[in-house]
Amino acid sequence: MQNVLVAGGAGFIGSHLCTSLINEGFFVFCLDNLISGDEKNLKDLPTQNFQYIRKDITKDFGDEFRNLEIDYIFHLASPASPNKKSPKSYISHPIETLLVNSQGTYNLLHIAVNKKAKFLFSSSSEIYGDPTESPQKEEYRGNVSPNGPRSVYDESKRFGEAITMAFHRKYGLDSRIIRIFNTYGPNMQPDDGRVVSNFINQAISNKPITVYGDGSQTRSFCYISDMIDGIKRAMFTEDTNGEVVNLGNPDEKTILELANLIKEITRSNSNVVFEDLPEDDPKKRKPDISKAKRILDWEPKVPLSEGLEKTIKYLREI
Ligand code: UDP
Repeated sequence: MQNVLVAGGAGFIGSHLCTSLINEGFFVFCLDNLISGDEKNLKDLPTQNFQYIRKDITKDFGDEFRNLEIDYIFHLASPASPNKKSPKSYISHPIETLLVNSQGTYNLLHIAVNKKAKFLFSSSSEIYGDPTESPQKEEYRGNVSPNGPRSVYDESKRFGEAITMAFHRKYGLDSRIIRIFNTYGPNMQPDDGRVVSNFINQAISNKPITVYGDGSQTRSFCYISDMIDGIKRAMFTEDTNGEVVNLGNPDEKTILELANLIKEITRSNSNVVFEDLPEDDPKKRKPDISKAKRILDWEPKVPLSEGLEKTIKYLREI
């Protein structure tokens, strides 16, 4: 049996990835310090072939793996919400966010070299900042503020990419970088202030739906099962060593369109209210996924309305 380490395994994407890998016959070690992850996400996981270790990967660790083979390392550990009102956002954890994507990545890369494990770093569409090109291709270098409120996330993801490539070039580490665009679905944190969970929670409780700015900014939303499929392909497809690839759904929507769609599906009586746009909020975001199609034979399959139905069901039940 092959061993996999998933850093950030109690998070939204991480917990789905753990489940999927266990079901495919791997033994999964899940590392998480629960800054933005939640043990509740692990409650339905198979108990066999799974070990959860509460751990901060920015601190000394690795001893627990001394006598073990590790075949694959997925680094998904990081807060990812920019919402300053949420205690789980990277704005609320600026230093931890900087460190998990820098020191944490460095620590995992060392383990990968020692174990000769294959490595995947989850970067983000945020490395494109407020893009001046749309859709965003992997070659686009971005438009990022080096010191604005979002910089703790954007710049540390950029650093994470740089150090991953440095290990690849210097030590020949078998590694790849994925850039995850907005992703949603069951297990997303109900209270991390991101747009899909906020709008659904507001709609199902008939509270005002809070659109920031005039709602003309765009995002492109990928359902979680499509994202997990893409992440596994990025790791397990031949010839992905050293590659950087966008993963996301190119179906672009304005935030106002999203608000109205969620209102319609939930048959909500909520009004849309407009609030201040957060500083440095990107105006456009849409992945160019031609590279993922070409090298991974991957593209999202779940339409937004169908994914939203499932997410609404999840958020209604918890
Ligand atoms: N947003 C909004 N209302 C909310 C939460 C978010 O209008 O209650 C907007 C936010 O300003 C941004 C978009 O929705 O333009 C996506 O925000 P999210 O926090 O989900 O993630 P981002 O894509 O900005 O990282």
